[in-house]
Amino acid sequence: MPAVKHLMTPGPTPVPAPVLEALALPILHHRTSEFRGIAGKLNEDLAYLFGCTEVPQPIVGSGTAAMEAAIVTLLGHLRGGDGKALCVSVGKFGERWVKVCKAYAIPADVLEAPYGQVVTPEQVEAKLKADAKIKAVILVHSETSTATVTDLEPIARLCRARELLLLVDGITSVGALPVEMGWGLDALVTGSQKALMNPPGMGFAALSERAWAAADKLGKTAGCFYLDLRQYRSKTAENDSPFTAAVNLVRGLGVAAAMIRAEGRENVWRRVTAQAKALRAAAGPLGTPLFSSAPADSVTALVLPQGVDEKRLRKETVSKHSVQLAGGQGTMEGKIVRVSHMGAVTMDDCLATIAALADCLSAQGHKCSAKEALAAAKAAV
Ligand SMILES: *Cc1c(COP(=O)(O)O)cnc(C)c1O
Repeated sequence: MPAVKHLMTPGPTPVPAPVLEALALPILHHRTSEFRGIAGKLNEDLAYLFGCTEVPQPIVGSGTAAMEAAIVTLLGHLRGGDGKALCVSVGKFGERWVKVCKAYAIPADVLEAPYGQVVTPEQVEAKLKADAKIKAVILVHSETSTATVTDLEPIARLCRARELLLLVDGITSVGALPVEMGWGLDALVTGSQKALMNPPGMGFAALSERAWAAADKLGKTAGCFYLDLRQYRSKTAENDSPFTAAVNLVRGLGVAAAMIRAEGRENVWRRVTAQAKALRAAAGPLGTPLFSSAPADSVTALVLPQGVDEKRLRKETVSKHSVQLAGGQGTMEGKIVRVSHMGAVTMDDCLATIAALADCLSAQGHKCSAKEALAAAKAAV
């Protein structure tokens, strides 16, 4: 079966040809100077992308592994004590971090908003003021399940003013939206298969000095082995790894990170924003309102009109237009479709998506015009 031409899902995302070529190179042993050279270049480019001075820690595993590693390493010391974490949750991934805290018996309160809504910095502040036991905040910058962005910078300022740790799931924001460790974050995490334009299989967690100090409080029993980031720090600094590196992915990521650096991260962010604007402008003429009250630029969620069968719609965008979309998760299943603007996705892909949606919605009796939707999209950028 041929690959779809327009892979618009918010992970995995399309992998550019130069990255595919790098991934297909012969295996290099990880304990060689040649490999360390490649890893070193990747590390430098990632530090630029994350806006940090210390290189992000690489984990072989999906994005969740990197996030879990950050949670156990930074917050493991809260287990059995008086302090707790505050999980800010506006969707499925926010809910995931609550589950990870539970799995490690890390006490955590939840501050949540209904799907499609946000938790504001004011709400976070009120919660922090009311509860001195909160020692850390965990949040998802771009909540991919609801296509919602949380206003991170003011929350980071609140955390700094109170000396609280701030752990951020940046899995669909690093390399897509403006975000950086310099805002005062303590952990910023991403995965290889979103804005980093690679296959799934690696995650990265950038940590602050404050984060490492919290890790020191952990003692000898982290409650896990592989995900204890203390093992990684000195190895990563030498462009080495405590376990077998994902050698091919490191090559692929090296090419992708160099592409991002050559384009400039600000230019990448602008490109993602332009695509998001185009899709949001098309939502009106398509008759598919935005699901989120604070739409993220990395992914757009559209509410389907009554009577439209989501499964059929997504099947037909593939079969008729080679456009693959994502559906909704959990209670959003069948009600929304999601379109990614991250990584190697282009404006042409977004326009093809709009045309495909107009055609396949019309096929189900929903009145909308591709011409109007495309005109609105083009006028918006
Ligand atoms: C994709 C995603 C994850 C999960 O990443 P995996 O690589 O599937 O473990 C977590 N958080 C967000 C915001 C995501 O978009």
